[in-house]
Amino acid sequence: MATLDLASIGLKVGFEIHQQLATKTKLFCECSCSETDKYGYAFTRKLRPTQSELGIYDPAAVFEFKKMRTTKYYSAPGSSCLVEADEEPPHEVSKEALESALVFSLALRSRIVDEVHVMRKIVIDGSNTSGFQRTMLVANGGFVEIADKQGIKRVGVQTICLEEDAAKLISDGETAREYGLDRLGVPLVEIALEPISGTPEEMVQVALTLGRLLRASKRVARGLGSIRQDVNVSIQNGPVVEIKGVQQLDQLAKVIEHEAKRQHGLIMIADRIKAAGVSLEQIGDRLEDITNVFSQSDSSMVKKILSDKGAIFKAIRIRGFAGIIGFEPYLGIRLGKELGELVRFYGLGGVFHSDELPGYGIDEKQVKDVRDRLQASSRDAFVIVGGRQEIVEYAIQAIIQRLKAAMAGVPAETRAATSDGRTVFSRPRPGAARMYPETDIPTIPVSESMLEPLYGLVPKSWEQEINLLAAKYGLNRKLAEQVFDSDYLALFEEICSSQKADSKIQPTFVASKLTEDIVSLRRQKLDVSSLTEDMIREIFERLARGVITKESVPLVFEKLMKKEVGSVNDAISALGISVLTDAELDKALDKVIRDNMPAIKQKGMGSIGMLMGRSMAALKGRADGNRVNAMLKEKLEKLLASS
Ligand SMILES: [Zn+2]
Repeated sequence: MATLDLASIGLKVGFEIHQQLATKTKLFCECSCSETDKYGYAFTRKLRPTQSELGIYDPAAVFEFKKMRTTKYYSAPGSSCLVEADEEPPHEVSKEALESALVFSLALRSRIVDEVHVMRKIVIDGSNTSGFQRTMLVANGGFVEIADKQGIKRVGVQTICLEEDAAKLISDGETAREYGLDRLGVPLVEIALEPISGTPEEMVQVALTLGRLLRASKRVARGLGSIRQDVNVSIQNGPVVEIKGVQQLDQLAKVIEHEAKRQHGLIMIADRIKAAGVSLEQIGDRLEDITNVFSQSDSSMVKKILSDKGAIFKAIRIRGFAGIIGFEPYLGIRLGKELGELVRFYGLGGVFHSDELPGYGIDEKQVKDVRDRLQASSRDAFVIVGGRQEIVEYAIQAIIQRLKAAMAGVPAETRAATSDGRTVFSRPRPGAARMYPETDIPTIPVSESMLEPLYGLVPKSWEQEINLLAAKYGLNRKLAEQVFDSDYLALFEEICSSQKADSKIQPTFVASKLTEDIVSLRRQKLDVSSLTEDMIREIFERLARGVITKESVPLVFEKLMKKEVGSVNDAISALGISVLTDAELDKALDKVIRDNMPAIKQKGMGSIGMLMGRSMAALKGRADGNRVNAMLKEKLEKLLASS
């Protein structure tokens, strides 16, 4: 397998950053932006946009409508109203949100438009009750300055838009999708940057710098998912692949690298197809229903599919493709895998192909029968897909299209980032979204008098913010940077300011728990979202009351992130780490002393270091070191005085 030299493949990356704003209200109504999972009311809708609204013919979109999925929306009082339910026209654009977008435009030296027009952009997945997302262009042009080893570099800004966030996907079942309306209508600023070339690390620096600039304004929301990056990746001037949903910066470099490798692998696969002398018409030129060949199969995968009434298996002949579908130019990059991801879009589990058969319980005889049916030679490949007939027909068309596209290398499509830094197919790339003017909201002129007071709100540099934070809380520079860049700056300040004057909980301790400890747990692939801000507050409150020790804080984090327990209290009892009472500690230390009498007799007070070590090991963090030391010293003095 090859290794990839990233510098040699003309890697280009464009960022589109979606940043939630910390406004008091949503963009088009007076509801609060805070998220909830306690919904009080639900309603269902069926969205049936017309063909003309879909614009160009898009088989994926047609398929989604064919499924006629019902969409269920959940609402909660205070976080959604009749506007989110699309029962009432949108109210005026939030002044606070528009001001934030204008402040960022000034900070990025972007050209602000004379008039802001609210537009409707069609969305077809049910993520908006109205069937479209409202968006408005606020500025274009400008640049963000990136400091790197060579000095200051400028990355151009394409556009700055203010838009409404989509509803929150709660579940995506076969027959229904469920969304929460609490996130629908939350204001987002979308900043699209010019595509740049460079190493993945340099690109991470760009995203980091822009994120820091936004945060320095103190006008943006924090927390997981409050900043989302869409990344457009291409190599060798090829088609652009859009990757959605990168939420963590430490995931970004990996995602870019994986996608560059995937695209380069696809080009190597295309070279192989060309070398095999295959023509477009030879791909999928013969289809055969092979359900009866498979009906006697011992394969558990086949049996599972056939247990669904009306399920069929069809085989597709692909002439000249022998060895190509299973060819793996880079680890994990194969056409077979691409096909598997593709059919998952249609709700199927995967495909079988000739390069991996016999296998999966499908034997040689069945493989030969399929070949005979297809009249496939040893130079030809085949792909088998099984499921309900209607879905199989869609999937076959998609597979044939995908294999034809493989001859050209990389298809333009939309992919999703995985938490471990790969990308997976999510849908074919839609054509440019159609926009229509939003007739319910009047145009907003942007006058100089409107901008005048905003110049003073342009954020200080990130450097200045870090210095202020470090000085205020007595943090070293590294810790100040980590807290500032984390999702927990507001929580950090809140916890520190809630401490009593005599508190032993220092800001440095809080900062390192909220950054280094959480980051290291996240690197162990634990789910940071199951440790909520409320839980963190509660943990520090227990610590302040002396219920747990400092040493226990990361243990409680870990227990909660592993989802082994659902509350801080349960974590503390499951871990058995509540602080010992004086009587319990007394008893535990007496035992340590009894067990070590020979050493005490020999060394006298000199044995205290050893006793301290044994005690702390036995207590497993259930008592503070100073307390143990004091009690141990007292006991030892008494013991030695009496003997
Ligand atoms: Zn509302």
